[in-house]
Amino acid sequence: MSELQPNTPVQYLKGVGPHIAQLLNKKSVYTAWDMLFYLPVKYVDRRKIHNSHTLPIDKAQTYLGEVQKISQHRLGRTKRKVLEITLSDESGQVKISFFKFNESYLRKKYAPGTKVLAFGDVKAYRGFKSMVHPEMDVWDEDHQDDVAKIVPFYSLTEGLYQRTIRRIFEKNLEDLLGVVVDDPLSVRDEGSVQISLSDAFRNVHSPVADSRIDEFNEQRSPYHQRIIYDEFFYLQLGLISKRYKQSQKKAFEIKSSKTLYGKALGLLPFKLTSHQEEALQEIENDFATGVAMNRMLQGDVGSGKTIVAFLSSLMAIESGYQVALMAPTEILAEQHFKNLFSYEEELGIRIELLKGSVKAAQRKRILYDLEQGVVNLLIGTHALLTEDVIFRDLGFVIIDEQHRFGVEQRAQLKNKTKYKQGDISPHLLFMSATPIPRSLSMCVYGDLQLSLIKERPKGRKPITTKVFREKQRNKMYTLIQQELQKGRQAYFVYPLVEESEKLDLKNATLMHQELEKAFPDFKVGLVHGKMKAADKESVMTEYKAGEISILVATTVVEVGVDVPNSTIMVIEHAERFGLAQLHQLRGRVGRGSEQSFCFLMASYAQSEESRFRLKVMEDTNDGFVIAEEDLKLRGPGEFLGTKQSGVPDFRLAQLVKDGHLLKAAKKRAEIILEQDPELQDPKHQKLKAIMMERWGKRLDLSLV
Ligand code: ADP
Ligand code: MG
Repeated sequence: MSELQPNTPVQYLKGVGPHIAQLLNKKSVYTAWDMLFYLPVKYVDRRKIHNSHTLPIDKAQTYLGEVQKISQHRLGRTKRKVLEITLSDESGQVKISFFKFNESYLRKKYAPGTKVLAFGDVKAYRGFKSMVHPEMDVWDEDHQDDVAKIVPFYSLTEGLYQRTIRRIFEKNLEDLLGVVVDDPLSVRDEGSVQISLSDAFRNVHSPVADSRIDEFNEQRSPYHQRIIYDEFFYLQLGLISKRYKQSQKKAFEIKSSKTLYGKALGLLPFKLTSHQEEALQEIENDFATGVAMNRMLQGDVGSGKTIVAFLSSLMAIESGYQVALMAPTEILAEQHFKNLFSYEEELGIRIELLKGSVKAAQRKRILYDLEQGVVNLLIGTHALLTEDVIFRDLGFVIIDEQHRFGVEQRAQLKNKTKYKQGDISPHLLFMSATPIPRSLSMCVYGDLQLSLIKERPKGRKPITTKVFREKQRNKMYTLIQQELQKGRQAYFVYPLVEESEKLDLKNATLMHQELEKAFPDFKVGLVHGKMKAADKESVMTEYKAGEISILVATTVVEVGVDVPNSTIMVIEHAERFGLAQLHQLRGRVGRGSEQSFCFLMASYAQSEESRFRLKVMEDTNDGFVIAEEDLKLRGPGEFLGTKQSGVPDFRLAQLVKDGHLLKAAKKRAEIILEQDPELQDPKHQKLKAIMMERWGKRLDLSLV
């Protein structure tokens, strides 16, 4: 076994042949390292062994007795058979029943006189204490490994037994710990994390007798925590290394007199919020350092990120640099263009939109002007990344809704940007409307600086949210009636339910009719995904013009609606939807200065979780709070979609639950990298190797 390596196929472990290896593969165990991480799903307390007198009628008990007899019965008048084993000790008897069994096997194994250990739930049955399908082990006076201790239970698959897995660990654990676990001392910190990784794995697979079994069952014993810490540590080491390397990248120093900036500020019909000002200050500071900015600007939909991007662009433009603004869709790119173009003339700058549909001649002209440096700000989709798009002095790149581009494109952009001056990077600003809880952003955006816009523009009142039941529908209608009479408008949304677009459509159509009856004085419109684009368009135009007062919609049309006079959002079947979606829908109102309302119509039959979600919606308008709750409910994978967002998968660690370990790991990684930012010290070679092996590819560490 001297050649044992972390990636040695599990088949070559002692006691594992091709057959068992195949079964383990089904459980995603392929290598020696995977085997170590095949952690028990629960632990069973066999420290207390009972006789029939002391045996409690309770769950998960262990009884030791001797086989008295085995007999087979028919179950009542049915054809089903039951095999009953009577066990006894000096204080009485216990009956064991099997409904699925191999009789000859059991008779052989549990011949009368055999001492047997039975573990399972104990019930009272016809005057006896009894157990159904317990775990049974023959009591071996010489080999009492599995008794008088806490015994691990592993997740199984057909043909794979507890005993098999326990035997594999009996035979291999020490080898694995000795050879496979690589645990450089510097990983540990002076504080809580002092256990060695080997000790951690040893105890997790084979807890000592005085362990606290509850902690083990929650997978939060000190040993579990040590493994979690290890997972976090290498990720943080990778992220901080990456950030360090990026901080070494030179960029143009942008030091603006802010004349254009001031002029634009004067043109705005509003005052900046303090968070917007803060973000701008942070960007201005970054610009001046001569080091490439790598910043994430996060804020809810409507929080005013675009203007921050635009004003910072002006600083760059004024210093003689060009700016690229990349959006995920043409619609968004166009919207940015329309908004910003209105400032073009007064500011005396040139803004262009690069669309896929633009004519060849025009495209050529834009690209020519771009290369000449005449175009100051170029807006577009990922079409900006194509080969022939060449800037003269690109100094600043802004990426809107960056999560929709995916990790690869993020890297691609940096590589595809063209420079005349070799080694210099542009300043980068990412924008995201998905509020990401801090715990998560430390793992996803650990390599970025963060600016948050948490407050909404002034003059917007918080939206009042209320849950209604079906029998309160009329009460809700009365409230809506009052608003409509003030000249306001309302959405009724039927969010799309999985695979039942037809049903939604039916519901929406019926609701349309019902609302026409309920609000005879107001015009009710209907839009849904199955309508022709032109019909949809005309309904929307009428709604925007205020000719329609109530718009019934399936969520198909949810995106991009912006009607400030809408002050009511009714979400039907609100209990079926996730927090993020509810929050997004609610964001369609509250865009003007009037008080807005979000009414959540929920059915009675709700799970506790959905009741909780609705409560959260009633309690807060804060996208970050909602995101945090959502993350707790759904976990990071569901929350962001693991693959797309680049949220790392951990084997044991959970971002929300284990935040304290994440912090400790981050701190430790920072201390190490502060002294040795490129991990060049020979004593850090191992750390570096493990980091590269685990995260190098994922974090694109070799590229930076
Ligand atoms: P998002 O963060 O979703 O990109 P936008 O930048 O599109 O938000 O801003 C939404 C709307 O709010 C725009 O119409 C914008 O002009 C307006 N806005 C931005 N900042 C303020 C502010 N400080 N006060 C009032 N309105 C603002
Ligand atoms: Mg935006």
